[in-house]
Amino acid sequence: MLPEFENTQIAFEYRSDKELKHARFLFSSMSSPALTKVGMKLTSMAISLRLPVKGIIKHTLFDHFCGGETMEEAAGTAAMLGKYGIGTILDYGVEGKESEEDFDKAVPEFIRAIEYAASSKNIPFISMKITGFAYFALLEKVHSRQPLTNDEDTAWKRVYGRIDTICKAASANNIMVLVDAEESWIQLPVDELTNAMMERYNKTKVIVYNTFQMYRHDRLVYLQESYNAAKAKGYLLGAKLVRGAYMEKERARAAVMNYPSPIQPNKQATDKDYDEATLFCLQRLDGLALFVGTHNEASCLKVAKYMLDNKIPANTDRVYFSQLYGMSDNISFNLAHEHYHVAKYLPYGPVKDVLPYLMRRAQENTSVAGQTGRELSLINKEMKRRRVG
Ligand SMILES: Cc1cc2nc3c(=O)[nH]c(=O)nc-3n(C[C@H](O)[C@H](O)[C@H](O)COP(=O)(O)OP(=O)(O)OC[C@H]3O[C@@H](n4cnc5c(N)ncnc54)[C@H](O)[C@@H]3O)c2cc1C
Repeated sequence: MLPEFENTQIAFEYRSDKELKHARFLFSSMSSPALTKVGMKLTSMAISLRLPVKGIIKHTLFDHFCGGETMEEAAGTAAMLGKYGIGTILDYGVEGKESEEDFDKAVPEFIRAIEYAASSKNIPFISMKITGFAYFALLEKVHSRQPLTNDEDTAWKRVYGRIDTICKAASANNIMVLVDAEESWIQLPVDELTNAMMERYNKTKVIVYNTFQMYRHDRLVYLQESYNAAKAKGYLLGAKLVRGAYMEKERARAAVMNYPSPIQPNKQATDKDYDEATLFCLQRLDGLALFVGTHNEASCLKVAKYMLDNKIPANTDRVYFSQLYGMSDNISFNLAHEHYHVAKYLPYGPVKDVLPYLMRRAQENTSVAGQTGRELSLINKEMKRRRVG
């Protein structure tokens, strides 16, 4: 059956009245762009001045959008989601590290997550960002095809080794790995590395997924090329489709540096390519697995309807829907209720290290007209249904 995204009883069954009130307070606060901007500036300042603001962040944004500070804490949230038929994507959300020591230290943390996931029935995926294992400047240099010095070449080989170690462990433990897409000016090495991992580990099952940002006007063609390359080389493509999270940054950089923006001219063009990309994948499920990473109800509904119309079982391993923890529960829980495969991105890590992630969530939730308005109206609807104030 098709899911009903308006059903708030199913969407919020796991939230107590108190938690709903907390969520309402959070989304109302974020709905003011001015307040969010000031809040974000003050938070960054307070953290750099080492002021004791951790408690405030932890009990507001962090608790709502993250699974915990450690994997063990996140595991509790994963178990709760599992009760509702929702899988978890463990996302070690530490960002902004820039030393070989930190990159090396991240590898065993990911292996631990993979081994934990393998021991749990609710955690089919982990996710990773290549910038968690490589200097941003090195990625930029590889992207621009400049020749590397000997030291840089050695550093790049170490990056490859780190990613390979993780993907190999994932393959051995039968856990899927989602490689996030990032800024367009480092995406080439991210794609190449991920393609190499898919070629190595996706021979019979999709273990590794690359991410395609459909707000880029060249990505629909790139998705088609990636599928053809996988077919020619005899491996399965893992296609995680998103719209893209760095639009303002992309446009601003292109304007300042005077090159054509890689971003679509408008939202309709992004939406059109997103839906075309999902259709392209749905028509080729014998050669790829589709991961629908979006909070857009219309896109999710189109995929679910295509599956229903074409008798693709809701719980096929070749299609996963995904939303971020703390957002769009009406989509996740109602899809899971109809037995579609759903997994929530669940970041975890020390509060100060997941701050960039929380800032992105605060930023994307500032518009009353957009996602926040939707979240607020659903929360209000459910509170009214429960008759709580
Ligand atoms: C499970 C999951 C995983 C994710 N992983 C990644 C990742 O690896 N990399 C990444 O970059 N993002 C990632 N994101 C974030 C994602 O790219 C979007 O920023 C976010 O989900 C909002 O898009 P939407 O499809 O949910 O919703 P919608 O509200 O329908 O779309 C909003 C998006 O549309 C695009 N858009 C908005 N206005 C315009 C405009 N004027 N012109 C052109 N395009 C426009 C932007 O991409 C914007 O974020 C992920 C999201 C989810 C749910």
